[in-house]
Amino acid sequence: MSVNALSDLRASPGIIRVHGHRGARGVLPENTMLGFVQTFNAGVQIVELDVLVTADGEAVITHNPALKAASTRDESGEWLPEDGPLIAAVTYDELTRYDVGGLRPQTEYGDLYPDQAFLSGLHVPRLADLCALVARPPYTDRLLNIEIKSDPTLPQATPPIPDLVAATLSPILERGLSNRVILQSFDWRVLHECADQAPHIPRSYLSYLPRPNAPMTVTIYSGSPWMDGLRGENLPQIIAEDGGSVWSPYFQDLIARDVKVAHDLGLIVNVWTVNEPSNIDQMIALGVDGIISDYPARVQRRLMAHGFRWQ
Ligand code: MG
Repeated sequence: MSVNALSDLRASPGIIRVHGHRGARGVLPENTMLGFVQTFNAGVQIVELDVLVTADGEAVITHNPALKAASTRDESGEWLPEDGPLIAAVTYDELTRYDVGGLRPQTEYGDLYPDQAFLSGLHVPRLADLCALVARPPYTDRLLNIEIKSDPTLPQATPPIPDLVAATLSPILERGLSNRVILQSFDWRVLHECADQAPHIPRSYLSYLPRPNAPMTVTIYSGSPWMDGLRGENLPQIIAEDGGSVWSPYFQDLIARDVKVAHDLGLIVNVWTVNEPSNIDQMIALGVDGIISDYPARVQRRLMAHGFRWQ
């Protein structure tokens, strides 16, 4: 079986790809091995995940620069009183003492995913653990959409970018998975470092456009530190000229014309994070290549309803 991230991520007639966001955050604890295994076993070919690096240089799969109080218990099963410690400040061994198998009830974050399974005894995995999983049957046709977390406005929260990238690449290269992964980041400095250290691995440019009262950090504007000096009006063109393979916009930022421009430039378009059925339908109609969702089964069902497959 020939597996290639770029061809397997591209839409083709009758096929749009499904990416399970952090595994399948809507129904399983996010960024955990159990979540990834069950998502794969449920027929999802591609999982999205987030990588940070510990004090002892281990790439680990977790989203926030510090452990999140709303989803983390300590060794005695008590919820963390507040966010912390920083992932960059603890060793991997220390990190394994924390349990990330469930969401704390009656918290803002915990209430976002009322259908998420509540489990105990799950730890922040190493990227090496997930690479080992997909290196062996029956997962040798699975792909990893790996987001490297870095914030140019919080440089002290993560290791220097060359170290962050090297630690992420290490298990990928060790397992020979270069053709089964893409590397994505909102921080395009990270993508430029990836281009230097591993030019053969495809890079995906995440973007979030300005809007009134933006609920997340806007990354695309003139002089933005997230864009690492790139400028211009036409985002797909900027990314294509910079050597990117994938553009990954927030789904509400996407218009039909940009999909065409991106496709004409040879880019793959993956939208995040699309959970509502009506929004999934809109993305199918726009003809994106991939839909990143906390509910990958929901995307599969909407694709089927429209006569599409995902593989
Ligand atoms: Mg992510």
